[in-house]
Formats: sequence, C-alpha cells, structure tokens
Amino acid sequence: MNEYEIIIIGSGMGGLVCGNLLAKEGYNVCVLEKNKQLGGCLQTFARDKVIFDSSVHYIGGLEKGQNLYQLFRYLGLMDKLKLQRVEGDFDRIIISGDSNEYPFAQGYDNFIKKLSAYFPGEEDAIKTYCEKIREVCNKFPLYNLETGGSADEKQSVFDLGAKTFIESLTQEKKLQAVLAGNNILYAGEGDETPFYVHALIENSYIESSWKCIDGASQISKLLAGNIRSKGGTIMRNTEVTRIITDNGRISFVQLSDGRKLFAKQFVSNLHPAKTIELTEPNIFRQVYTQRIRSLKDTVSCFIINIVLKKDSFKYFSHNYYYHKEGYLWNQVDYTENNWPLGYALFITPSSRHTVYANAITIFTYMRYEEVQKWENTFNTSSHEQSRGDDYELFKQQKAEKLINLVCEKFSSLKDCIQNYYTASPLSLRDYLGNTNGSLYGIAKDYKEPLKTFISPNTKIPNLYLTGQNLNLHGILGAGISGIVAATAVTGNDDIIKKIKHA
Ligand SMILES: Cc1cc2nc3c(=O)[nH]c(=O)nc-3n(C[C@H](O)[C@H](O)[C@H](O)COP(=O)(O)OP(=O)(O)OC[C@H]3O[C@@H](n4cnc5c(N)ncnc54)[C@H](O)[C@@H]3O)c2cc1C
Repeated sequence: MNEYEIIIIGSGMGGLVCGNLLAKEGYNVCVLEKNKQLGGCLQTFARDKVIFDSSVHYIGGLEKGQNLYQLFRYLGLMDKLKLQRVEGDFDRIIISGDSNEYPFAQGYDNFIKKLSAYFPGEEDAIKTYCEKIREVCNKFPLYNLETGGSADEKQSVFDLGAKTFIESLTQEKKLQAVLAGNNILYAGEGDETPFYVHALIENSYIESSWKCIDGASQISKLLAGNIRSKGGTIMRNTEVTRIITDNGRISFVQLSDGRKLFAKQFVSNLHPAKTIELTEPNIFRQVYTQRIRSLKDTVSCFIINIVLKKDSFKYFSHNYYYHKEGYLWNQVDYTENNWPLGYALFITPSSRHTVYANAITIFTYMRYEEVQKWENTFNTSSHEQSRGDDYELFKQQKAEKLINLVCEKFSSLKDCIQNYYTASPLSLRDYLGNTNGSLYGIAKDYKEPLKTFISPNTKIPNLYLTGQNLNLHGILGAGISGIVAATAVTGNDDIIKKIKHA
C-alpha cells in the first residue's frame, strides 16, 4: 500500500535538505510542492529578462570548513554552485542624517578594526560584542555540526535579549544603532528578539559572506536533482490539502486534485500551524495546538525589484541596511505617515553583467493588515488572478514612497530605473503558503524561550516537522532544520557525523 518510504510536504530549504539526507541514507523519498517552482524562499523569477531572487540574497558560512560549507559539500553542491564571495564588507549600515557608511567586514579581526575606526574609544565594546557572539554560537552544538550538548548550556543564553545586551555594551547610541543596524535580517523587535538569534546570523556572515550568481534557485535545483538521482520523486504543482490518519498514524496525504499518496513516514516543511490545519481535528493534544496557534509570526514586507537601465548603476557586492535615526528596534510600528522607517538593499550578481548591476532589490517592513482588504484574492504564476486596480495603485504609491527614501542616499538611482515590480505580504503568503506573509515564520521571544521551541517530533509517531520554524530561519537555519528532521527520522546522529567529516 505504501508508495513511498518518506513523503515530504513542501520543497523549501528544510524539506529539500531533509529529503537529500534521507535519500543518501537509502530512503525512497517523495517531495510534494504546491508551486510550479521548487524551493520556497529560494525561488527566482525573471522580469524584462533580468533574474531576481524572491527572498534569499546572501548566505554565510560557505568558506572551507565552515558549517554551511560542510553541509553543501556533503550534499555534493560545493563544486556545482555558481557563487561569488562578497568583497570586503558584507553589509553597510546607514542612518538618516549621517553620511557615514558603517562597515561590517568579514573576519572578526577586520570587523573590529574597520568598525572601531568609526568609534574611537569603543574598540573594547566592539571586541566584547564579538566575543559574546562567538561564545553564544558555541552553545549550539548543531550549529557547529557537533552532537550532544546539554539543554542547560543553551538555557544560559536563551533569555538574553538582543537589545538589552547591545545597550549594555556601550553608552554610545550610534554604535548601538550600528551593531543592530541590519536587524531586518531577523525582524528584530526590542522587547522580544533574543541575542542568540542575532548572534547565530551575524556570526555566519562575519565568518564569510556569499552571493549566488544568477540567483539562489540553483540551490533548490541541485538539491532536487540529487533526490531524483537517488530514485526519489519530486512533484511540482502538487498541493497537499489534507493529512489523514488511521489508528494514530498518518496514512496518506490528500492532494488538491483528489489523489491520495501513501507513505510510511511524513515530514512537513510547512509552518506548524499550517500542518495542524491540514490534519483532522483533535489529532494533536489541545495544549499543543493552542500553544502553536498562539505563537506570533514575524512581520511581513514590501519588496521592490528594480530593472536598471543598461550600464547605468555600478555593481557592488555589499548590502545596505538603512533606518531612520531613533527607529532601531521599533520599525515594525510605523504609521501611515512615517512609513518606511528602514530598508534593506541588495544586488544579485549576474553572469552577464559584472561592472554594472542590472537589477536592485529593496525591501522594508509591511504589516499584513495593510493588504487585508485584498486577502480573498490569490495570485501566483500558476494561478493568476488580478487583485484589482486599487491594489495596484496601493502598491504604486508605496513603491514611490520607498524609492524616494532610497534616493535620498542613492541620488542617481531614479534616473537608472527602467522598470520596477513589487511584491506585498500577499505575494509572500501565496508563494510560501503561510497565513500572513510572515518574513521568517515564528518570532522568537527571549522572555519565553521555551514557548517557541518546536521539536521535529510530533505526537504522531510517523509525522515530523522541518523548516525555519524549528530552530532558526535563513538558509543556514532551515538547512540545519533539515538535518534535525532527518536525524529524527533515522533515530540516530550518524548523519551529523558524516556531514562534519565530509
Ligand atoms: C524576503 C526574504 C528575504 C530573505 N533573505 C534571506 C537571505 O538573504 N539569506 C538567508 O539565508 N535567508 C533569507 N531569508 C530566509 C530564508 O529564505 C528562509 O528562512 C528559508 O528559506 C525558509 O525555508 P523553509 O524550509 O522553512 O521553507 P519555505 O521556504 O518556507 O518553503 C516552504 C515550501 O512549502 C510549500 N508549501 C506550502 N504549503 C504547501 C502545501 N499545502 N502543499 C505542498 N507544498 C506546500 C511552499 O510553496 C514552499 O515552497 C529570507 C526570507 C524572506 C521572506
């Protein structure tokens, strides 16, 4: 009766890594993806023949021996990926009313040296900040591809807030604003974000920063190819609408076209609340269901993808993070009048254009409530539906406001724009399959660290979870969630040892 040993619902980074690891262990894997394109946040698309990344613009930890390098090497990706190492600084922080571009350089010594030059007398604070990042990262064995480690050790860093810690380092407000200046990377909010989230992400980019030439979808294509080459199956345009149990175990998944697919074990790459929604009522304990449903998701965003006029805007590999002075940890609480309070700006490298950029992506926070009046529409490339002229006008007005703000810093940009395309929280919702277009899934809260802890094991013995909601978002975080889920399925740590020694 079982057609497959493992069915994975969703082909995001977590699902594909989990599928790869299990296929390498000899399991017969089948991945089901609702979209035409695989990869979730790894999807790319083209406008005016220019490639855009839908989400992922840079990746850390890919230098020889580093964590993501080891995983990608074990999965046979390192020789095949078209990567560009970011030159020098990976990020530059810019703040309104200040012409400085504060550099975040790769390598801890460089990081300290370059930033200290802007903050005379603050070198010790910057050093302490870097030491703390490394100390925190060492408390997470899997982040270092190690097994074991005690929960108590992690506990000691779980309840440290990012804002509190950064403010404790120095009285210098500008340095505080710079150290947390790229907090849109993890949707940092003052009263909630734990320092460990900040540390695990910053460390990865300080260690080494990389961009995918011609887009990040190459990662999902290679991962899918690996599964197929091991005899596995990848089904696109295949949406799971129900997860059906029999005698306390998952028996099959029902697809939107009515088909049923059977397997011995199931891994869901969906948001845990979505996974619960697809199962029959009362399959999970009420306390678990209530806890998951009560968790807050990170905010959504508004994205502008700009096609640039030929040879008009010089390429640079670093990213920019801007915020209005005084709005560091509360950019999500914008009003209609002061939006946007910050933005991130990225350029994806192209194999065809190296001196000049052919595209720029800018994103800023946008709360779901702003687009709620169009929430009954659904629009993806395989299910096209107009959301209406008023929605297009709304997006155009927002885009112009954001472009005007960006042009305060990049004054020549306006004349370089050939065309632009926008995405709203509804685009993220429809392409990623979550309920509110959340940027990074469940928001972590240092005041309630255990509440947001999601185990790969569920009460149903043959249903496992993977994806960014498990431990950490990002390509590294979701990749590690794939390891966590594969380890839960196999019931031992061997896979981690194999990755470490690949
Ligand atoms: C705007 C943005 C920018 C980002 N930038 C970066 C960056 O520069 N670097 C970085 O490292 N990280 C970045 N991230 C974060 C990172 O991309 C994500 O954390 C990570 O890719 C999420 O992986 P995941 O495994 O959780 O799955 P997801 O990417 O969420 O994929 C889930 C998949 O499941 C599918 N699915 C959903 N429901 C169903 C269903 N019912 N049936 C079948 N399939 C279904 C979806 O279509 C999707 O393909 C960014 C995220 C966003 C949104």
